[in-house]
Amino acid sequence: MKVVSTFEEARELAGGNVGLVPTMGYFHEGHVSLIQAALSETDSVVVSIFVNPMQFGQQDDLETYPQDSERDFTLASDAGADVVFAPSVDYMYPSHQRTVVSVGTVAEGMEGAHRPGHFDGVTTVVAKLLAGLQPNVAFFGRKDAQQLAVVRALVVDLAFPVSVRGMPTVREADGLALSSRNVKIGQADRATALSLSTSLMLVADAFEAGERESQALTSLARDSLGLFPLLSVDYVEVAQSSDARTVETIDAEVFVAVAGTVGGVRLIDNVTLDPSTGRADRGIRLNQPSILYGGS
Ligand code: AMP
Repeated sequence: MKVVSTFEEARELAGGNVGLVPTMGYFHEGHVSLIQAALSETDSVVVSIFVNPMQFGQQDDLETYPQDSERDFTLASDAGADVVFAPSVDYMYPSHQRTVVSVGTVAEGMEGAHRPGHFDGVTTVVAKLLAGLQPNVAFFGRKDAQQLAVVRALVVDLAFPVSVRGMPTVREADGLALSSRNVKIGQADRATALSLSTSLMLVADAFEAGERESQALTSLARDSLGLFPLLSVDYVEVAQSSDARTVETIDAEVFVAVAGTVGGVRLIDNVTLDPSTGRADRGIRLNQPSILYGGS
């Protein structure tokens, strides 16, 4: 595996059908699963690691976002990645960034409403990665369901010749969705953090039992989250997977998304509900502690 910091080097090293896994580093099994999915479908896999300042707002945690490049390089190499593209901030934003990519309504609710400017940062950096690295297939996690809808909109609207794959959410053994930010959750806040996934599993149960009204599902989640006074809930929404538009009745695939803050750590999670099968996608659970906590 080679670690490079320019688009030209990455393009030279990646051959054939190229898979891209864009990340902000501090890898966990969710990232590894994206690399594995890319390996199974493409000839060479490029993993980008870039903590993108443009997608962090003033209130966000850019300064304390966990980072450990050497650890990431080892994990990417062990997973079988061919190239790590780890550019500097100056390389990605050499001068004032004149062009900002904005996808409109798909980016306006939920995360867009609570983190103004966040998705413009995401779409601008993803557009740069797609233009500079020219992958054939790009892999994203459904953990960030609205982001996935936003990236799909970007790719269609700007005609990037790339296929976008959305992969299942990987969870810790107790159900907590893996996030690099989980390392910042103190032991005392762990039970509260778990309330997000617990509430979503109740939603999934109700959906599989036949409930199709968004209000009933969000009330269920809110009641469950309400048992945790240390959690400050930002939103609970039911939105179409295709365009992140909120819906009252579920008649196409949706995701139920929750976001909140505990102990200064902001967490998001969701489950996908598919009315064509009547099934909820609850993601995948690890059966051992995550590599986030020092294991292998
Ligand atoms: P991040 O490094 O957090 O920006 O995430 C990089 C990619 O990994 C994004 O496409 C995320 O959606 C995806 N990802 C993050 N957490 C998970 C998870 N628990 N399961 C699956 N994919 C994930």
